[in-house]
Amino acid sequence: MRVQFWGTRGSIAKPGPSTARYGGNTSCIEVRSARETLVIVDCGTGGHSLGQKLMSGGAKGLRGHILISHTHWDHIQGIPFFCPLFAPGNEWDIYGPKGLGQSLREALAGQMQYTYFPVTLDQCGARIRYHDLVEGTFDIDDIKVSTHYLNHPALTLGYRLEADGVAVVYACDHEPHSRMVATGHGEITGQDLRHAEFVSGADLLIHDAQYTAEEYPAKVGWGHSSVEYVVNLGRFAQVKKVVLTHHDPLRDDDAIDRLVANIQAKLRENASSLDVFAAVEGQVVEVAPSPAKGSARRAGEFQAEMPIEPALAEWSVLLGIADTKLAAALCETIRAEGIDTKFFSNMDEAQTLIAKGRPSLAILEHDPPRVDGMEMCRAIREQENDREHQLPVIMVAAQENQAAGAAAGVTDWLIKPFTDACARTKIRAWALRAACQWMRAVIPEDEEWRLARPPVHVRRAPMAQKGIENRRFPENVISTDKSALLWMYCREIAPFETPAFSKNVGDLIARATKRPSEMRNRSAAN
Ligand SMILES: [Zn+2]
Ligand SMILES: [Zn+2]
Repeated sequence: MRVQFWGTRGSIAKPGPSTARYGGNTSCIEVRSARETLVIVDCGTGGHSLGQKLMSGGAKGLRGHILISHTHWDHIQGIPFFCPLFAPGNEWDIYGPKGLGQSLREALAGQMQYTYFPVTLDQCGARIRYHDLVEGTFDIDDIKVSTHYLNHPALTLGYRLEADGVAVVYACDHEPHSRMVATGHGEITGQDLRHAEFVSGADLLIHDAQYTAEEYPAKVGWGHSSVEYVVNLGRFAQVKKVVLTHHDPLRDDDAIDRLVANIQAKLRENASSLDVFAAVEGQVVEVAPSPAKGSARRAGEFQAEMPIEPALAEWSVLLGIADTKLAAALCETIRAEGIDTKFFSNMDEAQTLIAKGRPSLAILEHDPPRVDGMEMCRAIREQENDREHQLPVIMVAAQENQAAGAAAGVTDWLIKPFTDACARTKIRAWALRAACQWMRAVIPEDEEWRLARPPVHVRRAPMAQKGIENRRFPENVISTDKSALLWMYCREIAPFETPAFSKNVGDLIARATKRPSEMRNRSAAN
């Protein structure tokens, strides 16, 4: 794969003599596979020059894909100035994290409203398709793409691109979950470990490194990494090459030189083979496969583009917060996301709510001796009999305690004080993850058996149940309540029915249908 940097600056474009070498344009990179599949990751102001290059020589019939990490300005401001979107005959697919209310298309159209820009998104001449993504995987021609939520005060996806025997990971913008880990110290555990797994073994890791460990304490909650953390992460996750990017607008070229020289000297001292450098606008990096390791994507992962709205519709968040002011603030944040909130003050109430409803998340407060969130979390875990599909629990506390949290079954932390944007993003990410988990639960692990089955053809069939007379069901798959329910869910979200849609739903249900031996076991158990 070939990677070229078109924008390396974070937060705001910063052109001028002090940033001339590393570049003043905001985030934008171009990735091409050996087969010339074109993927652009983020389209900050660097997207303008990239668009000019792509259209130079009067290129026609251009085909490309844009992956948007999140819709903060510095990652999308190049879109209205990206000329390949305006040329008829061009075809583009734009991908970004799925929200809970607004679609990716609506978010991008917002910055092109009459007040801000003279051309609307709908007036772009190219054919554009929009894709709202969750955590999972999908293919762009020969490139396999995996997505993973980052920690930032807006729902943000990191992208792992695999093709030609190499893996390139882009993780901007991201702040480590643990404040200790963020300064380059402490053990990488919990959600930070999940992040490390996502970047693990990458041939090229392009990572947010806006701050230094020294600057970080004044920037807690801003959603960015320190250089020291990124270097530690690269070593821990056995990455081959780390590119520091999303340079702070206040850091001039000489300061970046000093930072990189420092890091490289320390790595040499420690005899580390990790290659670290800072992204330079215009720089091209050829990523060649390493014979030492494989970076293949795991099989049978969840599709990153999946209709999960039905699984989101009835979800709720359980709040076990004793501090009334904090409870009211969190409640408002959750409601802003369109999610229902349910309060509990003791474990009996919590257990009833968990048993009755299908909460997507529990938020507990830990502030001993006033309230013992750890104890509540342990009680929730004891009640659960399905270890695979545990209720995510966010612990609100003044300090993290990863070891005690892991022992009690805490999934994630919200460390006080936090901003509304941070809380909102965490809640949104967990609600989406829970919905995906529920959808995943109806898709069996036995991919081999499933793929070996003949395709399911959708045809008109007699009604299976009262009240759904007008629904069509794929032949031979209405064998469990679960699949019938799934069918109804999928039908509800269809804006219209087409043969392609019916086939997709048929395939989805085929996956949800248990194999005959499982059905026999279940009958015997009943
Ligand atoms: Zn940014
Ligand atoms: Zn951002």
